[in-house]
Amino acid sequence: MVSAHVLGYQLARGLITEEADLVLAHSCDEPACQQPDHLSLVPRRRNGEECQARQWSGPLLDARGPRGRAAAVREAILAARERGEDVEAAIAAARSAGMPTPGERLF
Ligand SMILES: [Zn+2]
Repeated sequence: MVSAHVLGYQLARGLITEEADLVLAHSCDEPACQQPDHLSLVPRRRNGEECQARQWSGPLLDARGPRGRAAAVREAILAARERGEDVEAAIAAARSAGMPTPGERLF
């Protein structure tokens, strides 16, 4: 079993054959993102250091977690399409719904 972004990356770029301890990192920090241009193979340690340097900012702070965030976005897309509403606006609203408000205690 592989995660969706690993499968998508390999479909776009070919099989990952490096044997080093690499992870597929998102430049956008959006866990559900499938854009091959947003993904790069980096050493696991570097990915962790970069996440810490950003202090888990952006989508990583979503209180719903990656799975809950992706499910909320999916539901928003389906609902917007069914109602004939702006899908991009629905995605933006669904993404922001799980984010902490300014000043909210995070941990
Ligand atoms: Zn992305």
